[in-house]
Parts: sequence; C-alpha cells; structure tokens
Amino acid sequence: MNLFRSCLFLFLVSFTQMMGQNASEYYKNYTDTLNKRIPNELVPVILKTLEHYPELDTIPIDFVIDDGIHNSFMQAKPKPLSLLKKRNKRTYQVQLMSSLMIGDSVIPTHLLPEDALMGWFGHEIGHLVDYESMDNIEIMILGIRYIFSKNYVIRTEKRVDLIAIGHGLGKENIAWKEFVLNQPLLPKAYLDKIRQIYMPPSEVDEILKGRDKN
Ligand SMILES: [Zn+2]
Repeated sequence: MNLFRSCLFLFLVSFTQMMGQNASEYYKNYTDTLNKRIPNELVPVILKTLEHYPELDTIPIDFVIDDGIHNSFMQAKPKPLSLLKKRNKRTYQVQLMSSLMIGDSVIPTHLLPEDALMGWFGHEIGHLVDYESMDNIEIMILGIRYIFSKNYVIRTEKRVDLIAIGHGLGKENIAWKEFVLNQPLLPKAYLDKIRQIYMPPSEVDEILKGRDKN
C-alpha cells in the first residue's frame, strides 16, 4: 500500500471514530439478487469480486455478517444441510465480521480499502470454486483434515490463493495481505496466521510477473 492510500485509510479510521459510528449500526439490511444475499453496504465490492467468478453465477451464496467466527475475519463453507442433498443442490455461505478491530479502533468492514476487500472476498470465493470441484464426501473429509493437519491447511490455502490469482485477482490478493500485515495493532495470533498459512505477497507477485512475461 502506498503512502497516500495509507494516509487516506488512517483518515477514514479517525473520521469514523470521530463520528462515533459503531459497526453494529450497519448491516441491518440485505439485498437479495437472483441467488445471492449480500449486506447492502457490501453489494458493490462483492458484485465486483463475483464478476471474476462467472462459473458461480447460478450457485446460491449468502454473505452473512457474523461476529461469532473465531480467529478469522471471513470464512466460506457449504451450508451444512445442503451437504445432505445432491451435489448440484449445494448452497454456500460466506460469514464475515461486521468490523475489524485495529488497536482501539473499530473499522466497519465496508470502509476497508476496496482492493484489500476484493482480495479478501476473492480468496473466500475461491474456496467455493474449490468445493465445487468436490463431491459431498470429499468436502466432509476436507473439513476433518483441515482441523487436524496444519500442512493440509497450508496446502488448501495455497491452492485457493492460486484459484483467486487464476481468476484475475492476484493484485487484490497482494493488497489484502499487505493491508493486514501493515497493521501491527492487529492481534498477534491473527498476523501469525496470515504469515504462516497463506501464500506470501512476494510469491503471488512472482507468479504475476512470470505470467506477464509469457
Ligand atoms: Zn482460505
């Protein structure tokens, strides 16, 4: 993130604090499109990200504000009951926090920088593309292995980063991780997780440069 954008972001943060706004004041209303449910404030950035995934046009996805998810800011998964149905009836949800706590500041999610948010959503939506390549049993096995094996987590997250990059969201993938890693006031456990399990921004950059050469 360049200096100008960092300053703009810090200004937005302090402006939000000055106005006494609280993230819970947002996200009371959802927009239902054909088969997607999206918090009103996040419709532009999510639709812009979904444009990179035309293969999911017909797949039902709910984007749901849920402040109960732990040690993650977003997570994507099939709706549990839909795993009991036929594969082509599967539906998904992407849960996300209403805000990011940076030190004492509470930043409502839709006020985060757009390219970082697109990278964040692009990665989560990449998980859905990954799930779509699996049958229901394979997804359940993935869920179990994900709990017990850190190596499996790293392999899965790398594969999903590659899906996002392959869908034209490489720059946004870098913007997301650089944004997070440039916030030293985020919880250390979260920063460690970003460093340890995802493809580092420098590696994404190498892939993009390699692609430009061809
Ligand atoms: Zn992931």
